[in-house]
Amino acid sequence: MDTLTAFAADKLAALDAQHLRRRLVATARAGGPWLERRGRRLLSFSCNDYLNLSQHPDVKRAAADAALTHGTGAGASRLVTGDHPLLEALERRLAKLKGTEAACVFGSGYLANAGIIPTFAGSADALFIDELAHACIWAGARLSGARTFAFRHNDAAHLAALLAEHRASARHALVATDGVFSMDGDIAPLDRLSAACAAHDAWLLADDAHAVGVLGGGRGTAALFPAARVDLQMGTLSKALGGYGGYLCATGPVVDLIKTRARTLVYSTGLPPSAAASAIAALDIVEADPALCATPLARARQFAELAGLPPAQSPIVAVVLGSAERALAASAALEEEGFAVVAIRPPTVPQGTARLRLAFSAAHAEADVARLAACVMRLRAA
Ligand SMILES: *Cc1c(COP(=O)(O)O)cnc(C)c1O
Repeated sequence: MDTLTAFAADKLAALDAQHLRRRLVATARAGGPWLERRGRRLLSFSCNDYLNLSQHPDVKRAAADAALTHGTGAGASRLVTGDHPLLEALERRLAKLKGTEAACVFGSGYLANAGIIPTFAGSADALFIDELAHACIWAGARLSGARTFAFRHNDAAHLAALLAEHRASARHALVATDGVFSMDGDIAPLDRLSAACAAHDAWLLADDAHAVGVLGGGRGTAALFPAARVDLQMGTLSKALGGYGGYLCATGPVVDLIKTRARTLVYSTGLPPSAAASAIAALDIVEADPALCATPLARARQFAELAGLPPAQSPIVAVVLGSAERALAASAALEEEGFAVVAIRPPTVPQGTARLRLAFSAAHAEADVARLAACVMRLRAA
């Protein structure tokens, strides 16, 4: 075996021994919240398609029409010839939804944070990041070369203490957090974080990947905290909006600087026109149907109440089970009952907090949520 292949094989064996190896499982969407995997039809509580818009006829037709009319790819980076007019139309819609001057779309949410953070922070600056923030925020932090401090999860007092200690020695300070935490489903206290930022002259970035389309009437977490100032409202088109791509909403100059400097925008091909068209169609539905937007949270609340868990704050509910082995066994048991619920293990979550992560959708029937809650109750007791 050559040394590269031997290295990979050893790594895999070590991961296997710790129950930490991950494998892709071919999965087809089978309409609504249904999936087909391993030859079985399963009811999914592991899709982020909160409004089921990836399956919506209007959204699908918008993508198909755009592909037929404009082709399947942007053909170049946006700064070269890839800036299709549909991208600018989508940016106007996102800015309107968020109430900001401007918006910029990216190839994905991950690429958005990997491009935004290094645009506004460099080696002379300091970053303050919630310890449970999404991997792409940490990736952006590393790329920036800025000094980086983690504050305790949702602890604005700890953030303020870190700012008091380290802000003065930095040129600029940027605070970054998830709006809704992707593995716990809780919400960042943007009012208190924003007050700490104001007191220490720091900028605030909130990642609304799991909030746009579902919280704050579809407008995201900043809409839940009207007094908070969120300078950089980032999110994704790939969850409740049912498609693919990322975005930033901010002031005109902030967005213009992104469009000339963010490396993940400058050196990466523009989104395909079909992705922009489907996102616009999805925003039409989000803006027209607040009851639809509110349904995933209502289902999550129903589940949490039936399962004896604290009230759900978002469409995501975590059932922490401890060891990776226990979480995998619970996931397998639920699959036997016809549910697709993935186990989330370290390093995605801290050691000893492996869990089932449930994502509720507007397409889930209340009776199915109740049946799932009964199964989860039995597994937690076992
Ligand atoms: C999913 C997710 C992202 C990444 O978005 P993609 O568009 O899937 O790359 C970023 N941040 C958070 C909090 C997420 O959950």
